[in-house]
Amino acid sequence: MQSHEAHELPVTVQIDGETGRWSVDGLPMVLVPQHLLVNNLDAVERHVGRDCSAELFRGAGRSSARHWCAHEATRLGLSGAAIVRHYLDRLTRRGWGRFEIDELDPVHGVLQVRVAHSALLSVAGSTRSVDRACYLFEAWLEGALEYASEDSSRVAVREIQCAVNAEECVFTSN
Ligand SMILES: [Zn+2]
Repeated sequence: MQSHEAHELPVTVQIDGETGRWSVDGLPMVLVPQHLLVNNLDAVERHVGRDCSAELFRGAGRSSARHWCAHEATRLGLSGAAIVRHYLDRLTRRGWGRFEIDELDPVHGVLQVRVAHSALLSVAGSTRSVDRACYLFEAWLEGALEYASEDSSRVAVREIQCAVNAEECVFTSN
């Protein structure tokens, strides 16, 4: 049974009284309908294919994750594995899915994460149908791992199992 009771937001949203702009943890934030997000991905994939789409978004995802981690490291004094844990906790709180860490060793570029209820899967109002549907998270995890290891050498993270055709999504650097 799914429950849909009203909850307090699991992150604190600051709203600028003058501009109406939102921010969370001091970074600008928007609340986006999930079907819009999924439909945008679907449009790109129909045009260039899933693999090309993944490569198109990879650089932006990596640098955005690094930017987020640097911001939070400065604000909270976190580093190493702690910043990756904080990142996945915030992704979970902001509704991207339930991120659970199985393995994490930034120094050695090791990470395995399971994601249940990924927000990148098709929802009512969208018709997206690709496998390895949550490839955006690959780049986000790569960027966080890269930041935490203080090593700019490229770590590759892959979604090796997706809830499109399995119980949950699994991402690994191995
Ligand atoms: Zn997935």
